[in-house]
Amino acid sequence: MSLYRLIYCSQASSEISRYDLKDILETSQKNNQATGITGLLYYEDSKFLQILEGDHRQVNQTYHRILRDPRHHDPLLIECLPVQKREFEVWSMQGIHTDDLATEQIRTFLLKYSGFSQFLPDTMTAEQCLGFMQELAYIHLLSDSFTLELAELAL
Ligand code: FAD
Repeated sequence: MSLYRLIYCSQASSEISRYDLKDILETSQKNNQATGITGLLYYEDSKFLQILEGDHRQVNQTYHRILRDPRHHDPLLIECLPVQKREFEVWSMQGIHTDDLATEQIRTFLLKYSGFSQFLPDTMTAEQCLGFMQELAYIHLLSDSFTLELAELAL
């Protein structure tokens, strides 16, 4: 298998709802599990930033299917290249948006990786996008295990 990573950003359609986001994520997780795709989808301020990783052909097919989706537009391909390993292997597709993590924390990451505290993915390099998403993933995993620990304590 030839492992690839693809990064793109896009603009959400004006009428996108919470229900749409939930639907996108559920469909993504189901499809990606079947095709061996892993990754992360970040949504903020009507903009998406997504990383897909997996077999070259599967990543390509998934990306082209996503491009046809009317729930977003103006896609910008930031990177598509062969990689040695997956960065988000635990997730068939994890969705994160500003409600999930403390907003201040996200501003700090954005400032660190893009130089702006605003989310402007179309101005970010592939390296900046990857760093930002890795940091989000790490914090998200930590907050998940923290919740789990609390739940265990309550038992
Ligand atoms: P069908 O359900 O037959 O869809 C037919 C067409 O209708 C497609 O063009 C589809 O995009 C569109 N569509 C489906 N549901 C709706 C709806 N509620 N409103 C309007 N149009 C709709 N899919 C993945 O498999 N993996 C991903 O990682 C992934 N990431 C995504 C990220 C973003 C930002 C968006 C917007 C979508 C993403 N999707 C992802 C969903 C993807 O675009 C397809 O909707 C999905 O893969 C099913 O496509 P289909 O043609 O097989 O299904």
